[in-house]
Amino acid sequence: MGTLDYTVATLGSHCALQLLKGAKDEGLRTLLVCEKKRLSLYKRFNFIDDIFSVDDTSDIASDRCIGRLRETNSILIPHGTLIAYMNSDQIERINIPIFGNKWILRWEADRDLKQKLMEESHLSVSKSIDSKNDIQGLCIVKLHGAAGGRGYFIAWNRESFERQALRLKDQKMISGEQDLFIQEYVLGVPAFLHFFYSPITKEIELMGADRRYESNVDGLGRIPAREQLSAELEMSYNVVGNIPIVLRESLLLSAYEMGESFVNTSKNLVPPGMNGPFCLEGVYDREGKFVTFEFSARIVAGTNLYVSGSPYSDLVYDEPMSMGRRIAREVKLAIEKNMIDKITS
Ligand code: AMP
Repeated sequence: MGTLDYTVATLGSHCALQLLKGAKDEGLRTLLVCEKKRLSLYKRFNFIDDIFSVDDTSDIASDRCIGRLRETNSILIPHGTLIAYMNSDQIERINIPIFGNKWILRWEADRDLKQKLMEESHLSVSKSIDSKNDIQGLCIVKLHGAAGGRGYFIAWNRESFERQALRLKDQKMISGEQDLFIQEYVLGVPAFLHFFYSPITKEIELMGADRRYESNVDGLGRIPAREQLSAELEMSYNVVGNIPIVLRESLLLSAYEMGESFVNTSKNLVPPGMNGPFCLEGVYDREGKFVTFEFSARIVAGTNLYVSGSPYSDLVYDEPMSMGRRIAREVKLAIEKNMIDKITS
């Protein structure tokens, strides 16, 4: 089968524009599964060949939708919105090819599995704290799932934890303290490192880096300390956008090593391993050491910065190479080599 026999499909949100633009640039057919309320946005872009509209996100797994994806011989590219709307069981049951390794998405969603994969990859990892009674230094308290940082708060002892947990409960964001995950807070510069691993070439590529612009935590610094102390401000880490980062060149070697170590470990823990795009998320501490607090086992929205390529992809490719286009190129390569099974699950 040739390139035109396949369609690259994704859900209308997160990084859909970049993904489908990249697929079109590589000469592939594109399909968007889109909620009705978002149609007017996506209809503006002529690189989307076909739109399948659904009433709401619960229809994504419907027979009608999966049937259309199958008819069009689609490869579905998972992103943050897909995994926010579907649980791991639902994703694993999707019966069409999904780009990358869908089994590893469960390891992203489950905090304990996530911590295990990071630790076994020999990354320096921000410690998880089992109980509110064990909180000693500064901690960040997170909600489970890909909530985009909404509702996260900082605690420094049991009392500050309980007070803020109660607020989230009152706001119906959690049903109880068991919905919260406590992690050691790492002071430094947050950075999100975007990688792509090809199971065909067996090469890892650093495709870019970003930091998130989060509300309202990134607004707190605009208020003088006196007002911060007196106004009892509530904080949150709601992602609004992304800001590019270029790393000091002396940090690049360890970035590649961390990516490689993660890929190698994932091959044993979650076969066939971390194929395709992924992101290591952490903080460079004051010694310049990267302490990882999360990973995403699929494309992250920070790659939207680099639709025309990044300072890193430009070193490897003589043409603009977004993460979306890199994915499409992998699909093309797999079609040529008759290896679609290797890049999908
Ligand atoms: P996450 O949803 O885990 O990616 O985190 C959202 C935001 O919280 C990040 O962009 C960071 O600003 C911050 N953050 C998360 N975990 C930590 C941590 N362990 N130490 C310091 N900041 C963190």
